[in-house]
Amino acid sequence: MTDSTPILSLKSVRKMFGPYAAVDDIDIDISEGEFFTIVGPSGSGKTTLLRMLAGMDQPTSGDIMLRGERINDIPANKRPTCMVFQSLALFPHRTVGQNIEFPLKIRGEDPERRKARALQLMALLRLPEHYYAKNVMKCSGGERQRVALARALAYDPQILFFDEPLSAIDYKLRKTLEKELKDIHRETKKTFIYITHSLEEAMVMSDRIGVMRAGKLVQVGTPHQIYTSPTTRFVSEFVGDVNVIPVSLGARGSLRMAENGRELKPPKLPAGFGNGYLVVRPEYIRFLDKAGDADNAVEGKLYNEYALGSRIQYQVRVGDAVFVVEKLRQQPFSGKLDDKVIIGWDAKDAILVTD
Ligand code: ATP
Repeated sequence: MTDSTPILSLKSVRKMFGPYAAVDDIDIDISEGEFFTIVGPSGSGKTTLLRMLAGMDQPTSGDIMLRGERINDIPANKRPTCMVFQSLALFPHRTVGQNIEFPLKIRGEDPERRKARALQLMALLRLPEHYYAKNVMKCSGGERQRVALARALAYDPQILFFDEPLSAIDYKLRKTLEKELKDIHRETKKTFIYITHSLEEAMVMSDRIGVMRAGKLVQVGTPHQIYTSPTTRFVSEFVGDVNVIPVSLGARGSLRMAENGRELKPPKLPAGFGNGYLVVRPEYIRFLDKAGDADNAVEGKLYNEYALGSRIQYQVRVGDAVFVVEKLRQQPFSGKLDDKVIIGWDAKDAILVTD
């Protein structure tokens, strides 16, 4: 084993349920200390994959390697990994301290050392010291989530797996916990493998994201790569609102909009491009004084406006199509609903995908 051996390596991992491949031929290397998130819609195979990684299920074929050793047949309780569940699985009639100390107790550590470690973990998880004696059921949802994470850390695992731990928590607290989890990851330097159906959540926390669709890993990259360089329409549409314009190759290397035949200036064309989709994020489309102010311009009617806090989103109707445009609130704009407007974007700010 060398230093560059991944902590976890999947080689052609597949899980069949009858004739159906819930996880279909996945290859991936995860580095020590990485925060890796698997994201995908419901039914895409995330839980099935995570259960195999954690040892709760075995692959039908393929290998799972931990630091270069095949671990397919090693059960969950014999692996140096720990799962943090959405359902929390805390002991309801015990205190916060007893819950966190549980792994240390079964390992036979003496009570004083157990308590010292529990208090250390509580401080890391920003739980007040006096919660040590508090019944865990008297804690709020967010606090219980932190207790569950402190307990998982008490096992001192090499990898922590998270199965949608924040999905049952309200929006504001979830946003806080996402950032806290990222801090805790940085402080503990452990490998975190996290699943969620929310790419937005994945973006906030992860070093890398793997996007799953129908059992396959369709793209792996940093949050920046996934957002700015999606390789498919599916990935581009997975985060926030996006403009997807069906196009085909037009004359002299231009693009032709499928809807009305209008010529558009393309970003760099992939070799052999015939037809596909031009993807333009709403923040790259701007309102123009005249059509020549951007590489591509279309005329339409302003027909909706949504306040999104620091940004404002507009919908502009262009023929039968609707374009979504976003701008920062402080940017001046005097357009009113039903006004005729010209919107446009520069060729370099669009992405071309084929499926
Ligand atoms: P969600 O976000 O809804 O939890 P998921 O991405 O985690 O979805 P999985 O739970 O991994 O998806 O399921 C993937 C597919 O495998 C689904 O079509 C599901 O119905 C199927 N599946 C999962 N477990 C079993 C099982 N034990 N037997 C048969 N089919 C299963």
